[in-house]
Amino acid sequence: MSKLQLNKSWKYADALESTDHIRLKEKYDLFINGAFVKPNSKKYFDTINPATDEVIAKIAEANKKDIDLAVKSARIAFKSWSKLPAKERAKYIFRIARMIQERAKEFAVIESMDGGKPIRESINVDIPLAANHFFYYAGWADKLEYAFPNKIPKPLGVAGQIIPWNFPLLMAAWKIAPAIACGNTVVLKPAETTSLTALKLAEIIQESGLPKGVVNIVTGAGNTGAELVNHPDIDKIAFTGSTNVGKLIQKCISGTKKKSTLELGGKGANIIFEDAAIDQAVEGIINAIFFNQGHVCCAGSRLFVQESVAKDVIEKLKDRMSSLIVGNPLDKNTDIGAINSKEQLATINKYIKIGKKEGGEIYQSKCSISKKGNWCPPTLFLNVSQSHAIVQEEIFGPVLAIQTFRTIDEVIEKANNTPFGLSAGVWTEKGSKIFKLTQELNAGVVWANTYNKFDPASPFGGFKESGFGREGGLHGLKAYLKFE
Ligand code: NDP
Repeated sequence: MSKLQLNKSWKYADALESTDHIRLKEKYDLFINGAFVKPNSKKYFDTINPATDEVIAKIAEANKKDIDLAVKSARIAFKSWSKLPAKERAKYIFRIARMIQERAKEFAVIESMDGGKPIRESINVDIPLAANHFFYYAGWADKLEYAFPNKIPKPLGVAGQIIPWNFPLLMAAWKIAPAIACGNTVVLKPAETTSLTALKLAEIIQESGLPKGVVNIVTGAGNTGAELVNHPDIDKIAFTGSTNVGKLIQKCISGTKKKSTLELGGKGANIIFEDAAIDQAVEGIINAIFFNQGHVCCAGSRLFVQESVAKDVIEKLKDRMSSLIVGNPLDKNTDIGAINSKEQLATINKYIKIGKKEGGEIYQSKCSISKKGNWCPPTLFLNVSQSHAIVQEEIFGPVLAIQTFRTIDEVIEKANNTPFGLSAGVWTEKGSKIFKLTQELNAGVVWANTYNKFDPASPFGGFKESGFGREGGLHGLKAYLKFE
């Protein structure tokens, strides 16, 4: 076997992204009816840089009264927005996309400061993909009758949208763009730890001239989200987040007329067959689990390697892990940034402890970690089985559980033996194997010889405890329409 030995040959000089151009306010208010307004609660909470523990800004906490104001403004705006010629709606959405592009660097830096993700990922993935979603759905706005032939598509009304902290701007784009393209109006609640880029998006929305009340952005924690879910004048709840909160939301809205889509957790299987291009597969494993510190719903957190190549794959994987740079999210060399919050770090560490206690063999690459901030070195576990908690439960961090398999039927059964059904990856030279697995794996998305690839035209969503409904593509439009 030829070893990659990456760690021994490469050393990088610091390459810090400048923050000079970033203009942040000390305090951010709620964005309701086209204006920034003070919260009725009079309360603000801190948003913290997870790499330095510094407070970046204060964010308004919306209460029941604020939610009511936001929903009322969305309801009033719906009357005219839904009747506006679709071509006019498209122009606004297109303008928002262009403005995100123009301010891409600023958004990328703020995303990395607020959320801890490596700047390389914010620049190359989060921000361009967010702009692309607005472009894509701007294109569909005046073509809905061609998207759904022989039907008359109508908007649902006011959508309450709740998003998580792992891809803050991108999740906001996934929610807002298709909803308003279809003629709905929205009230969006970002996650407590990463509200900044949604509020920056509110600035863009204001500048774009989008009619008042079409998009309202209300910040706060879980209680604010619950007020939105329970508001009686909401037509649809679009939620992305954990399975536990998804289940709570479903209980709250059962028996009401509210429509819903729930995009929930995952525990993706990444499957390496002996005939795969092994070096590429190793790179794919790294990308599948360590992208965004593993804070990815579709992360390939369960690795299945065919027994005959397991030794080779694991050795190369450990070697590649030792070359990953953990550190300042604003350094362009960084591969793994900061864990999003102290709470999330505690969850990850809890699972690492459980993994060890249950008999798993741990490997963590060596890295020097700053005393300030929240950090977790890339971690893998060997000697684990289907019954281990770290194999069954979502950790949402840079922790990989590795198992082996001998036959294709065995790996399909193991991969499907999970409460989740969001994503999977298959690495093989054989197209026939790929087709068999894409049909038999219980996952909303299956990547072949790649991982974590996203496109606005491609639907994304899960089965089982990973939720229901799709975002992206035509499926993403359908979730915001009713048909006559
Ligand atoms: P949470 O479920 O904790 O939170 C998601 C959002 O819901 C946040 O805005 C949160 O507010 C809010 N919230 C919390 N409690 C309630 C409540 N009772 N009623 C209404 N809203 C509430 O998830 P995380 O933010 O921790 O995100 C991680 C999870 O998201 C993972 O499980 C991941 O797999 C999943 N996810 C799924 C995706 C998919 O497409 N399937 C994509 C991305 C992530 P606050 O943060 O302020 O507490």
